[in-house]
Amino acid sequence: MCGIVGYIGNREAYPIILNGLKRLEYRGYDSAGIALYDGEKMHLSKTKGKVADLEERVKSEIPTKGSLGIGHTRWATHGVPNDINSHPHVSNSGELVIIHNGIIENYATLKKELINRGYTFESDTDTEVLVNLIEEIQKQENVKLGKAVQIALNQVVGAYAIALFDVKKPDEIVVAKLGSPLAIGIGEDEFFIASDASPFIEFTNNAIYLEDEEMAIIRKGRDIKIRKIKGDTLVDPYIQELKMNLEQIEKGGYDHFMLKEIYEQPAVIKDTYRGRLLADKGIVRLGGLENYIEKFTNADRIIIVACGTSWHAGLVAEYIFEEWARIPVEVEYASEFRYRNPIITSKDVVIAISQSGETADTLAAIKLAKQKGAFVYGICNVVGSTISRETHSGTYTHAGPEIGVASTKAFTTQITVLTLIALKLAKEKGTISQSDFMLHLRELELIPSKVEEALKSNDKIEEIAEVFKDVSNFLYLGRGYNFPVALEGALKLKEISYIHAEGYPAAEMKHGPIALIDEHMPVVVIAINSNHYEKVVSNIQEIKSRKGIIIAVVTEGDKDVKEMADYYMEVPNTPEALTPLLTTISLQLLSYHIAVMLNRNVDQPRNLAKSVTVE
Ligand code: GLU
Repeated sequence: MCGIVGYIGNREAYPIILNGLKRLEYRGYDSAGIALYDGEKMHLSKTKGKVADLEERVKSEIPTKGSLGIGHTRWATHGVPNDINSHPHVSNSGELVIIHNGIIENYATLKKELINRGYTFESDTDTEVLVNLIEEIQKQENVKLGKAVQIALNQVVGAYAIALFDVKKPDEIVVAKLGSPLAIGIGEDEFFIASDASPFIEFTNNAIYLEDEEMAIIRKGRDIKIRKIKGDTLVDPYIQELKMNLEQIEKGGYDHFMLKEIYEQPAVIKDTYRGRLLADKGIVRLGGLENYIEKFTNADRIIIVACGTSWHAGLVAEYIFEEWARIPVEVEYASEFRYRNPIITSKDVVIAISQSGETADTLAAIKLAKQKGAFVYGICNVVGSTISRETHSGTYTHAGPEIGVASTKAFTTQITVLTLIALKLAKEKGTISQSDFMLHLRELELIPSKVEEALKSNDKIEEIAEVFKDVSNFLYLGRGYNFPVALEGALKLKEISYIHAEGYPAAEMKHGPIALIDEHMPVVVIAINSNHYEKVVSNIQEIKSRKGIIIAVVTEGDKDVKEMADYYMEVPNTPEALTPLLTTISLQLLSYHIAVMLNRNVDQPRNLAKSVTVE
């Protein structure tokens, strides 16, 4: 999640940091802030809004002199986007100042302990807890800043890239990383710090990319010491020569944001269940749900309202909620629901799903449901978004900013949240056996590495894309949990390649679409290990007898479908209810490669908007 920039050297820090923050804007953010040391004092300015708003505010608020500073663009995870929650955050003594990207999972426990020791907090962020924890350790243990940071980070559970300095010792910046990116640019007697190399590329081509669980003490005009956060071993700095241009850096070396976001899925799925899924202990903990469990378990039914890809995530949820929690589920297009005079009562729970949290139709559906007395739960990615404020409670997906217009990581993280909710409710209601519950918790924890495995088929999928890039129609088929994935696969292809595609439940094919099949029609069939495997095999035979071309998504180790299919894409084995999280990956890649080969504008397809704020 978002951007950090820092500078220590002999130049004026402000323009470097400000331009650096502008360069990091592409990552998406909701607030920005800066702390500068002018040789005597630290000056801080921060604001909700854009870097341009920060620039305006700085003009009237603080002097911009000084050659040490840190700046931040925030993508809120803890506490709504507002001025106070913006970074940098300062410790109670006013001496330590920090910027942080990521999530401190155990911040609530740490915060309680610090409050007991007399600390006070201005913001709702996890970050303010961390900077005060470091201060407390510095005092208690009487150690230098670097050591205090190290001890603190050993107490922290979560993900972070941090940079901080001590106003009393303004010749060093301490940085550390776990999960979020952090690059250090090395100049002559100067150092640059940033989430990627884009803020400093015109100053130096030499950079160190910190590895996870490494920290560095960067001293002005001197050296840089890198050590492991756990244990105390020093690490030899590995200085890389940067060969990428600005645009390549922004996209993390990928050609498009969409591809970057597809590849981020292992990490963001983990971020989504971070601190919420404790598989070993058999616990699912969702802050927004804890006080409202009975609303769900006593509900007559759950109505899911959403649009587009989020609606597909809702359809996956229909299968898992009904299977595990035995609560009737209806999934509605928000746009239809709001105008249908639907029957809603106070015994209904409405779940609204939206990546941006601003989707106009979903918002209108929420208002309607609330008027009729239903309890409304939101699942959004953007913290503090309108939907997150309009709903009674909810869960954030923590996918980080999604820049590609065609949704990828938002979809899989929505499914992750819905899976956690379904498991939690099933456990509460006693509608899932203990062994099934434990199995799915453990398997969910393995999904990130299995997504990584599925991504390894990329080259093969690219070859398949080459074969089919010029066709005009596609059919996507799936059954059960993977019927919504077939819909999502078809939508993704339409959105970014402009090729016509339809998704259907495989068995429904006989009732119409089979008439379309001839030797020119590619049919993508999701044929993974499942209760429906034999049935899907029969569907494949039916297509083959009509000369249709089969592109199958199969489970690793499959034999039968592989033999029948013209082309196949493999995904690892996982319990059936979790397969959408893997089969989706292959279909995302297929659409992506076809669109690239057709020279489409992958990240900003024609006629589409990222967040649909009009009905
Ligand atoms: N968790 C921190 C916050 O909510 C940092 C978010 C970020 O990565 O920008 O303020």
